[in-house]
Amino acid sequence: MKDFIRQGLETVNPGVPASRDCAIRLDCNESPWDLPAPLKDRVLQRIRDLPLNRYPDAAALEVGEKIARNLGVEAGEVVLGNGLDEVILMIMLAFGAGRTAIIPVPGFSSYRSSAVLAGAKVVEVPLKPWLDIDAEKLLEEASREPGVVFVNSPHNPTGRSVRPEVVKALLRETRSLVVVDEAYWEFSGTTCLPLLRDYDRLIVLRTLSKAFSLAGIRLGYALLNRDAASWLTRAKMLYNVSSLSLAVAGVVLDDEVYVKEAVSRIVTERERLYGLMMSSPLVAPFPSSANFILFRTPRAATEVRQGLLAQGVAVRFYPGDPVLSNHLRVSVGLPEEDEAFLSALDRLLVNEDQRALKRGCFHA
Ligand code: PMP
Repeated sequence: MKDFIRQGLETVNPGVPASRDCAIRLDCNESPWDLPAPLKDRVLQRIRDLPLNRYPDAAALEVGEKIARNLGVEAGEVVLGNGLDEVILMIMLAFGAGRTAIIPVPGFSSYRSSAVLAGAKVVEVPLKPWLDIDAEKLLEEASREPGVVFVNSPHNPTGRSVRPEVVKALLRETRSLVVVDEAYWEFSGTTCLPLLRDYDRLIVLRTLSKAFSLAGIRLGYALLNRDAASWLTRAKMLYNVSSLSLAVAGVVLDDEVYVKEAVSRIVTERERLYGLMMSSPLVAPFPSSANFILFRTPRAATEVRQGLLAQGVAVRFYPGDPVLSNHLRVSVGLPEEDEAFLSALDRLLVNEDQRALKRGCFHA
């Protein structure tokens, strides 16, 4: 068997989240709020009427049109996937095979795994010392030969938005394909979508997993010009998004008030949590434009994460990443979950040398 395993597969994360049994799960950047009951009732009504004996609409016309209408693009410029994870893989299969994928690290792991699965060469561009993306280095790597550059804004796990000027420079000064992953854009308001009109080498990615509280239905999409969209469509499985997911999305996308309220609730809670973490002598949080907060820990992050897990709180850690060996990422939870997280930290870290931590930390 060993001889058959493709090169680089050992570097791909097996992707089994550890926190399923945990009481408080703040490690996956999900929304802590499910759909409000009246909206869920409308969803259930719609599902009741679905013919489950039929395959889904392979072109996902209704949902594609709703997304296009909400964003002011054309329906032919939207390609849906079974979560953004699948869309990222589709992009690498359609456009990146045999090329170079240029990826800021630490960053979202699917860029690397999709690149490996598509047989692309991976070039990692480390973040700068205070964890900003290294725009100059990205530009340099993307200029070598036409490859696929990933920009994630806001960036997971730092929570920082990337200025659209950085993306513009990549498009203007290189011949690479630029993929801007805006999975968390609703929490920031900064987007590169308007650039789509001017550049046919730009792909913007969005998902319903975060702001829409729909991680369970697995629906993400790419926004790209019509011609590129028709090529990307060839890299998807025919019926990649289930009828159930399309039905749920079809109902929720009609309710624009819902998503505005959902986002504002999370942003308010994020700022409250950030304020509490800032005033705690035990941790040093980074300002965030997303639905999670990266923070420095006074002890090895693996130890702190284990101590939190033992108290029923799951946060994200980065084992083996030298840059983040003292960092954890906490998703914004319900106010009571965030309180429980902070109390668990208190219990765990109460005896640390508190001055040392704050001296070495960064606050923008
Ligand atoms: N991009 C980024 C930056 C993410 O953090 C995530 C999920 N954590 C995804 C994409 C995947 O989104 P989806 O749930 O749509 O697969």
